[in-house]
Amino acid sequence: MAGDGSDTFADEAEPSFTIDEYIEGIEAEELEADLVLGGDDGKECTYAGGYLTRQAIFSCLTCVPAGNAGVCTACSLNCHDGHEVVELWTKRKFRCDCGNTKFGDHLCKLCPDKDSENPANSYNHNFKGSYCTCGRPYPDPEAKEQIEMIQCCICEDWFHEDHIGLNSVEEVPRDEEGEPLYEDFICHKCSPICSFLKLYPDAIWATKQNSVSQADKNDSNVMEGPSDHANSEKLENGVHVDDVGSEKTSVEGNCTKDIAVSEKANFDSSSSGCKLGTDINTTSADSEKNMPFFMSRGWRDTLCRCEKCVNFYVRQGIAYLTDKEDSIEEYEKIAKQKRQKKLEQQEGAETNFLNSLGHVQKIEFLSGINDIKNEIQSFVVTLFT
Ligand SMILES: [Zn+2]
Ligand SMILES: [Zn+2]
Ligand SMILES: [Zn+2]
Ligand SMILES: [Zn+2]
Ligand SMILES: [Zn+2]
Ligand SMILES: [Zn+2]
Repeated sequence: MAGDGSDTFADEAEPSFTIDEYIEGIEAEELEADLVLGGDDGKECTYAGGYLTRQAIFSCLTCVPAGNAGVCTACSLNCHDGHEVVELWTKRKFRCDCGNTKFGDHLCKLCPDKDSENPANSYNHNFKGSYCTCGRPYPDPEAKEQIEMIQCCICEDWFHEDHIGLNSVEEVPRDEEGEPLYEDFICHKCSPICSFLKLYPDAIWATKQNSVSQADKNDSNVMEGPSDHANSEKLENGVHVDDVGSEKTSVEGNCTKDIAVSEKANFDSSSSGCKLGTDINTTSADSEKNMPFFMSRGWRDTLCRCEKCVNFYVRQGIAYLTDKEDSIEEYEKIAKQKRQKKLEQQEGAETNFLNSLGHVQKIEFLSGINDIKNEIQSFVVTLFT
């Protein structure tokens, strides 16, 4: 990264990274930590906030070997330091269990006054330290290399890409750099309860350019809607509709018609009635092999919020999909804002320090970096494993 190479370790038999790369590495790790923790500084137990929309959750297998309890960030640091803590990333609608009846004699140091249990919490096998359909731990001590896992936005379990029923991991929509082209992933076990999504336009599906995703292959189930649904002026049945009032009546008329799923829904993103123009209740899970879904950016905004659809989401237990703050996207956005604030407060502290170092001092500083890095790594490992 350093343009003139003067910062490199080239003359020493040391790893060849530069100060800039090192700082970038630390910053990337910090950023990742901040994103997972949602900008939570880990000082206060979140119990008082009730079931939070989303927060980072940890499971302490030392205190609760059964793996059916979860604690907040502050508790993982203050009450379970040195314990076998499983890092679960974020979970929705969870309330900190630290020190409740599941913990026996172990009291919470931060918020000891808790109800005996949190009845609305749900616990999957992640709390026992196993993930995916294969039930392996992460990191997997027996794996030659750690394969990245992706989280289902419905069940919130984590999956290996080669364990989600795809014919090939190449089907996961990624760009050339391997960055995901999807905002949300719905696993093959959860996709049947979301089969109504097939009524929506192609724009809600994340696909690689010029390649058809597995979810779209059965195109009798996929609506060929307007690909540019951001366009406010819709061409509906060959007629331009720009009057919201007249649209509403025509769409409501369609709603009562009970169009079968296999027929194309009369999707209208600008409608104040039902966007689908068909009864969402007529959707049913297909008996074919279940495929995972990859959803495009902003797909949740597209979801219809009419009374019928909302009631359907509630019955299916997926009403959170219409809550903006439920999305990882929003959670990370808030985390980034908090991080920006934090960085502005400590502005320049690190860079000024490095800039003030002379060349010899830089070399001395560099030789100490590996030690620091190892320390930080073991800290991060304790924090996130
Ligand atoms: Zn707590
Ligand atoms: Zn513990
Ligand atoms: Zn605690
Ligand atoms: Zn797996
Ligand atoms: Zn799932
Ligand atoms: Zn609707």
